[in-house]
Amino acid sequence: SSLFGHVEPAPKDPILGVTEAFLADPSPDKVNVGVVSPLILSPRSPSPNLAFCFLCLSEVTDGMGRCFCRRAPTGTTTASPSCSTACARPSAGSPATSTCQEYLPMGGSIKMIEESLKLAYGEDSEFIKDKRIAAVQALSGTGACRLFADFQKRFLPDSQIYIPTPTWSNHHNIWRDAQVPQKTFTYYHPESRGLDFAGLMNDIKNAPDGSFFLLHACAHNPTGVDPTEEQWREISHQFKVKKHFPFFDMAYQGFASGDPERDAKAIRIFLEDGHQIGCAQSYAKNMGLYGQRAGCLSILCEDEMQAVAVKSQLQQIARPMYSNPPVHGALVVSIILNDPELKSLWLKEVKGMADRIIGMRKALKENLEKLGSPLSWEHITNQIGMFCYSGMTPEQVDRLTNEYHIYMTRNGRISMAGVTTGNVAYLANAIHDVTK
Ligand code: PMP
Repeated sequence: SSLFGHVEPAPKDPILGVTEAFLADPSPDKVNVGVVSPLILSPRSPSPNLAFCFLCLSEVTDGMGRCFCRRAPTGTTTASPSCSTACARPSAGSPATSTCQEYLPMGGSIKMIEESLKLAYGEDSEFIKDKRIAAVQALSGTGACRLFADFQKRFLPDSQIYIPTPTWSNHHNIWRDAQVPQKTFTYYHPESRGLDFAGLMNDIKNAPDGSFFLLHACAHNPTGVDPTEEQWREISHQFKVKKHFPFFDMAYQGFASGDPERDAKAIRIFLEDGHQIGCAQSYAKNMGLYGQRAGCLSILCEDEMQAVAVKSQLQQIARPMYSNPPVHGALVVSIILNDPELKSLWLKEVKGMADRIIGMRKALKENLEKLGSPLSWEHITNQIGMFCYSGMTPEQVDRLTNEYHIYMTRNGRISMAGVTTGNVAYLANAIHDVTK
């Protein structure tokens, strides 16, 4: 009897398992609409300084679409010019220079945090000026959520977290491992494939006063359904009445509208209404820094003194876990956001990615209609952000995979980032076949 004999294999992750299966499929027709990096249309920057990825040392043309690699609509790889330009700056550091070898402070890069707060709270936010925000660099969006969940458990041990149905599946794992009890609240309306606003408002009203709610700031994953501005105002108002605490997960800032500023609208409404909020930011999607684990956790406090205390406690939670966050991605983020020219280039890239996805939504819907599908596919173009919550059943998804080598999560979520001019017709044909 071995020491670890009782250890059973963990269940496959419902999202990351899809990529593994895709990679293992030898079919030349295979399509991955599971987890795919968003695509940048801009031509590959011919920077001689970026012959390889600083992180994994593989060629920038690495087909995984990770690091700074991108695939154009036809499937060829292009790099994001803003990231590759930033990387080529000596201040970004590389394995060949010393910048990257140093530890960052426990709370991470001060510059990167400063820029992140401007992005989320607004360039001229009074809360930034008043130093009311406790913020630390986090291990991307996941790490930011987990740090918050651990903080919540430590300082409000009797609290719970309300999580929307459905949500990104890892939210459940994160608060489970932080040992914060979970409740769910109504979000999606399967019949209309839109928001169940009445159900949502009811659940907010019926939760005990002072509850914690996890809200997707924009481009809800997996449904692609966001409240309207007016609905956000009503939600914020009701939160105020109930003294609930909103924790915003903002993993797709820029992907809903193409403009990061507009995508921060929900947060800004809550700020206007005088809420204290928490916010998890990720640069995985909007800068394509997936593997760099660049993100930020912020908590708006009552005053500067409280913010100092809260930040010190966040650092104390990080210290025995990973001590301090990784440096290169943080440098890339701060170089881009701190340089007006690079920032406007980045904004154009984000807009390009969002527009391309919108174009692919139209193409997918038109292809399905052309095939004579009697079903309504309006939701493909009504939903926003990176995902289309197609309404397909797990069995229909299984058929797509088994018969057409199309890989996606069994909840019917299509990552629109994986849809290209080259595969949209094939995808539509397969979807039509399994849904007719
Ligand atoms: N939140 C949501 C809603 C997400 O969809 C994701 C990524 N799929 C994340 C957080 C975190 O991603 P990362 O840790 O790579 O930033």
